[in-house]
Amino acid sequence: MKPDLPAHAAPEDAAARRAVKPVICYPVEGLPAPGLGPYIAARDGWEMVAEVLVPAREARCFDVPAGHFFRITSVEGPQVGDLNLWNAHDLHERFYSGKTRALHGTHLSAGDRMWSNLPYLREMALITEDTLDWYGFDDFGGGVHDVIGTRCDPYTHNLLAGGQYHHCCHSNLTRALAERMGMPLAEAELHVHDVLNVFMCTGFTRDTGQYFMKASPVRPGDFIEFFAGMDLLGGLSACPGGDCSTVHSSDRAACYPLLVQVFKPHTALLGWQVSAANGYDRTHGL
Ligand SMILES: [Zn+2]
Repeated sequence: MKPDLPAHAAPEDAAARRAVKPVICYPVEGLPAPGLGPYIAARDGWEMVAEVLVPAREARCFDVPAGHFFRITSVEGPQVGDLNLWNAHDLHERFYSGKTRALHGTHLSAGDRMWSNLPYLREMALITEDTLDWYGFDDFGGGVHDVIGTRCDPYTHNLLAGGQYHHCCHSNLTRALAERMGMPLAEAELHVHDVLNVFMCTGFTRDTGQYFMKASPVRPGDFIEFFAGMDLLGGLSACPGGDCSTVHSSDRAACYPLLVQVFKPHTALLGWQVSAANGYDRTHGL
């Protein structure tokens, strides 16, 4: 955090330096615009092919073939979820929260894409509907569905509060992936990565720049929907923070399940293709 009393005096031109206008680091206007109309139309007559209820304070994995949709829906009570995505055929390719943030901003909504890590960097999924898009940013600077948090984990909990808490999203996702892949926990843990914080309401405090959370505005029936750009393996944890209004990394918050549903379109989207490999040649200048 920035010091209350800086050790160094401001230079004479401090005001002028601060007044320089920002520029957007990564203008995304050059990307092909997804245009959600065809995706919305493709839902006509779709068929639900899988349904997974993620229990409170647990995680589950689910498969989404390329060209299918999946929805995460709030059921029973307000609850946030931590979402991981992997290439179903290669766990080394996985969701890249940091670059997705740099491209689309701190909080995602319909029309934004979830990108994979380097050296892959291609579209894993497109968000096709978000019933909480009305929320925008509140007076605290809070928004929904962030890519700024990481996931609650037992290591940070141990650093700050001591003890052993095993139902953090990191551990929930680790157990779920280990079970799905039939791999040891220690191996599965290395594939768990920074998440999309589904339904979570977060931001940075204006005075200190600290990461904050507040009660999620999600209510039962709200959902966020995705279109899979490749064969995906998903992992979703129903966070022990519940609606994240008070605490996480404990069993004190009221928690509810989350519903994942996978849908197969009646007819494949016209002109749609599996995400192409990134065009960089990987020679790195040699
Ligand atoms: Zn969590």
